[in-house]
Amino acid sequence: TRDQRWEMRVTTLADGRRIVHLVDRTGSYATERIRVDFVANASHELRTPLASLLGYVETLEDGAGEDPGLRERFLKIMHGEARRMQRLIDDLISLSRIEAEKYRAPDDPVALGELIDEVCLELSGVPRAGDVVTEIAEVAPVRGDASQLSQLLHNVIGNAMKYGREGTPILVSLLPEGDSMVRLSVTDQGDGIPPEHLPRLTERFYRVDAGRSRTIGGTGLGLSIVKHIVERHRGRFDIASVVGKGTTVSVLLPLAAVIKP
Ligand code: ADP
Repeated sequence: TRDQRWEMRVTTLADGRRIVHLVDRTGSYATERIRVDFVANASHELRTPLASLLGYVETLEDGAGEDPGLRERFLKIMHGEARRMQRLIDDLISLSRIEAEKYRAPDDPVALGELIDEVCLELSGVPRAGDVVTEIAEVAPVRGDASQLSQLLHNVIGNAMKYGREGTPILVSLLPEGDSMVRLSVTDQGDGIPPEHLPRLTERFYRVDAGRSRTIGGTGLGLSIVKHIVERHRGRFDIASVVGKGTTVSVLLPLAAVIKP
């Protein structure tokens, strides 16, 4: 088919006969394509705030800096653009770290309940739509990497804060799931996500509403980082959403005692 890539190799034997090998390179070709697209997208995402920063610097240099009101306004915008680049670079670094460690299963026992409390505390200074309500059951530790699980919580709870509706609570719950897993759920009462977008949310840089996500401070990398972390922890991940009602992100993680080394 059109999407298939073959590589041909020819070996000549001592008696002059030739053997033709056909090697299927479709998989590595697709991986290469994803890598090229990723670099292009990342560069584009960084170039936009950088162009804006340069524009403001030049305008200030051209004399706008002499007007104190204008100067203050421009500096504020420039600060915002620099922050955006910083968030993007932080997310890119996280993503490449997690990917580099893809084949090594993390194996520290992690008390997820405590980690949830910690992350909620860290996020308490972040502007948000409503209160965070936690419902944490006594569950055994999961086996994993505490800093990656903390990042997963940051991204998922952070999204509920960003996309939840003003004045409505965000529910974070941790419950046992059968006798070998725990279920972490984060529910908000925001605008929800139209069903056609759901399968694509974990793609890098995919956003339902790019303009809104950008002004809110999104990079479009949060959920792809979550997906990688869940995969590394041999867990499962699911997003259920109803437009106009809200979104629930669930993450299932295996208990430490269950995984064989
Ligand atoms: P971003 O950094 O833009 O938030 P994510 O990868 O975390 O990127 O999420 C991808 C997109 O999924 C977001 O841009 C947003 O459109 C949508 N999204 C994620 N979480 C929610 C949520 N809780 N409610 C509504 N939309 C969401």
